[in-house]
Amino acid sequence: MQKTSRSWIGLFGCVLVFLAASCEPPEYESSLPEGDAPTVGSTAALRTEGETADAIGGPGEDAVWVSSEAGLDASAGKLRITMVDVGQGDGFLIEFPNGKVMALDGGPSSSKFANYLSSRGITQIDYAVLSHGHNDHYAGLTPVLSLLPSDCVARVFDPGLNRRDVAGYNSFRSAAGCNYQAIGIGASLLIDPAIEVSVLAASSRRVGSSDDSHGVNNTSVILRVRYGRFSILFQGDAETEAERLTYDASRSLLRSTVLKAGHHGSCTSSANTYLSTVAPQYVLISVSETNSYGMPHCQTMAKLKRRSGLRWARTDENGTTRLVSDGSRYTVIRSKGRESEDSCPRDCASPQDF
Ligand SMILES: [Zn+2]
Repeated sequence: MQKTSRSWIGLFGCVLVFLAASCEPPEYESSLPEGDAPTVGSTAALRTEGETADAIGGPGEDAVWVSSEAGLDASAGKLRITMVDVGQGDGFLIEFPNGKVMALDGGPSSSKFANYLSSRGITQIDYAVLSHGHNDHYAGLTPVLSLLPSDCVARVFDPGLNRRDVAGYNSFRSAAGCNYQAIGIGASLLIDPAIEVSVLAASSRRVGSSDDSHGVNNTSVILRVRYGRFSILFQGDAETEAERLTYDASRSLLRSTVLKAGHHGSCTSSANTYLSTVAPQYVLISVSETNSYGMPHCQTMAKLKRRSGLRWARTDENGTTRLVSDGSRYTVIRSKGRESEDSCPRDCASPQDF
């Protein structure tokens, strides 16, 4: 076990040290034990001095869903996550308790995500993560990179897929400039001492298929964000192949309160074993109501319906959806529509599962 931990340190220490050195705050940085870089999935390095596992909640103790913000602890810092209705794509805004702001994908439109930030009066973002190199994720993220501070700190991350494989998003990398840094499995983003942000998957090479749509989808960053007993797993468009690899490598780290379903509710994601391992209470699906792919596919909705007590929200039915957590409880606020609407355009022809 110890040997395994050390090898992880060797592999990823430089990434972790680099990110820690670039991400503020200095008080937090100094709380890291010298010469003992965090291991993958370890919570130790992400705690502030004096905190214990019990104080911020260990794995297996899930946060509790409440029906409104009134049910949250008014005095606790809030983690706020917004699934912006960007049409057929993903666009998420993550606001940390310490005030830092991260954009995670930005949808296919050059204006919808930026307009949402503007409507909220958000004029600066601190970090941006692109899950993978497809237009429905980077096109709306590129314009908001202009809201980053003017420095050369590592603030913009993607899986580092070779530009020749994804020529279309050269503009994204160019806009990121010297803020750009590739991230890989095992990295942690040290943004807020109260929040653990762990990269469970991200590949700089196509995964499982040389075909663009599947091979690039499977490079997606799988990002787990944890605040106390609340956790959410984002996975871009990761499909079953990437889910299986992540399950094989990191199954003990997957369990999360909320799952952002892979690939807009496609039947090529949300494998049964993966769903059972994540064991979410709540699922988020970002999908347009008029998409030609027939998403969310009926096979995926059937899997969700079979899981007792599971709730979900989807942008095609519920519009922009906000999630707020105090670290012990969370609530989900929809713009419109019923929760857990199970309508679906059609079955897909080639469902995948494991
Ligand atoms: Zn997509």
